[in-house]
Amino acid sequence: MEIEQIKVGFMDVFCYLVACSRTKEALFIDPAGDEEKLADRLKKKGFDLKYIVNTHGHGDHTCGNKSMKALTGAKIVMHELDDQVFNSSEGQEMSRAWGFEPSPPADLTVKDGDLIVVGDVSLKVIHTPGHSPGGICLLVDGNVFTGDTLFVGGIGRTDLPGASERQFMKSIKEKLFTLPETTIVWPGHDYGDKPKSTIGWEKATNPWLE
Ligand SMILES: [Zn+2]
Ligand SMILES: [Zn+2]
Repeated sequence: MEIEQIKVGFMDVFCYLVACSRTKEALFIDPAGDEEKLADRLKKKGFDLKYIVNTHGHGDHTCGNKSMKALTGAKIVMHELDDQVFNSSEGQEMSRAWGFEPSPPADLTVKDGDLIVVGDVSLKVIHTPGHSPGGICLLVDGNVFTGDTLFVGGIGRTDLPGASERQFMKSIKEKLFTLPETTIVWPGHDYGDKPKSTIGWEKATNPWLE
């Protein structure tokens, strides 16, 4: 398996390229900016992009979906709840109001426990509502991609439409902090003083989660 962390857009979003080294099948998590460059990266590596997976439906994570799909033919994958919310006319309006290109509807929707497979690599969907209704984290081989749920030394906002602080804390405590402490945390934004951490590190030091 290969994991590449790439910073995109003007909101310091971390996009991730996850690929199977054997079959060269790949997926992008939140390819939200510089899509042409990201597509060139795929070509250079000889990767075949199967999926564009969104950690959640907010525009800063989905604004690249349309052009990345046009460039690669990959399928857009999102949790069923965020697909409903953010592909409604209100949801599309919210993306535009934030200055982002709305996403086309998801080609595939997922829910808690589903697997997203590229070659020998299987990412398990963990539904972590709170920042948005259909927020997900993705777990693979001791790595967890946490979107806007957990940052290095920080947490996602719970004051946006569709957010819930109660659900959010439950997601962190019951879904993320129950993972092995050595699990590597790959956040959805570059907000920390380092680009990744571990579940153990966040449990011990995250000031928002004492
Ligand atoms: Zn968000
Ligand atoms: Zn975000």
